[in-house]
Amino acid sequence: MSLVRLDATALRADFPILEQTVHGHRLVYLDSAATSQKPVSVIDAISRFYREINANVHRGVHTLGDRATDAYEGARERVARFIGAPTRRSVIFTRNTTEAINLFARTWGRAHLRPGDEIVTTELEHHSNLVPWQMCAAATGAVLRVVPVGEDGVLDLDRLCEAIGARTKLVAVTHCSNVTGAIHDLERVVHHAHDRGALVLADTAQSAPHLPLDVAKLGVDVVAFSAHKMCGPTGIGVLWARPEILADAPPFLGGGSMIHEVWPDRSTWAEIPARLEAGTPNIADAVAFVAALDYLEGTGRAAIRAHERALVAETMARLVALPWVRVYGPADPTDRSGVVAFNVFADPRDAESLIHPHDVGTLLDARGIAIRVGNHCCQPLMRRLDVPATARASFYLYNDESDVDALIDGLHAARKTFLR
Ligand code: PMP
Repeated sequence: MSLVRLDATALRADFPILEQTVHGHRLVYLDSAATSQKPVSVIDAISRFYREINANVHRGVHTLGDRATDAYEGARERVARFIGAPTRRSVIFTRNTTEAINLFARTWGRAHLRPGDEIVTTELEHHSNLVPWQMCAAATGAVLRVVPVGEDGVLDLDRLCEAIGARTKLVAVTHCSNVTGAIHDLERVVHHAHDRGALVLADTAQSAPHLPLDVAKLGVDVVAFSAHKMCGPTGIGVLWARPEILADAPPFLGGGSMIHEVWPDRSTWAEIPARLEAGTPNIADAVAFVAALDYLEGTGRAAIRAHERALVAETMARLVALPWVRVYGPADPTDRSGVVAFNVFADPRDAESLIHPHDVGTLLDARGIAIRVGNHCCQPLMRRLDVPATARASFYLYNDESDVDALIDGLHAARKTFLR
């Protein structure tokens, strides 16, 4: 019986890191929502860049400089294509999702928000899509409205839409939760927000790697994501916004590349994207990101989604059958990406008997199984769930049913340790 559509065994061969053993066991990597592993094509692309192409971009007249510039701008074009953006002009390379959202809050946010304007966000956001808005509200006098989620950690979209009013200038919401895996119907939020004249920023850190993502189809105004969660290198991320939104956004950092003209006492700014990319960018990792996007598209984005959905459905069914496990987030696996957050209890009837997820994670690690434990940079959500932390298993294209078996066996063994 297999609902899994990808041949994970064959795909795993593309990821050299997965060949190792940990504490004498096969590595079972269930932490791709934190960062994904990298296929050999991406590792080779980084090496090839430094062996054959390396030079600074947008500067020299020499051949290598032209080659590096073409590769870097080619990466911008490739990212635009991957997300269905009509032009590469408003693809801004950043370090990661966090920097992308901060960039937008510091530039567009400070230029456009006035006292009394409202930013609407939710209680389940990653700190990266909450703290920058707290800072932006403090700096501009705008009001931050944080829409609560239910006790099960699920966001009611009606509630979110009700919070969007005539004073709302921006809705900052995650496309896909990094804790519960919940996928939000952004088209509905966009429709509602645009009717009231508000923009929608979608944190797509967890959706870009796992779901077919088309910004034109979703109608969102701004997205932010990180290459490292989608088979690409660390240190490179993307802010994309509709070009007209960034057209008058003031600079983020000042320095080389972002200027048009400089005098001792003043400067004028370059057009986007250069205006928002001061200094020498992370050229090598942007170029290697292309190999990651090629890999994901070569594998098939719909197939990746179907594969993860099947693994999550199986994991949830097996976890829900264990009375001593509590699973958080949407009950229907089709409403989730490849993420399952849960906790283990020594006594199924006693909420006080929580086995701390750090202990669960450590015991699983002894069996070669890597999961994430902690608050997942979502402290408000943890408070709503009334837990100090959760365990989280997250799947990607290289996982298969044997990884689910290993996780379930590991949890049985971990709980037994605490019953002794
Ligand atoms: N948003 C979400 C939903 C995430 O899962 C993450 C990473 N855990 C981030 C933002 C931040 O990503 P990064 O650390 O790459 O900036």
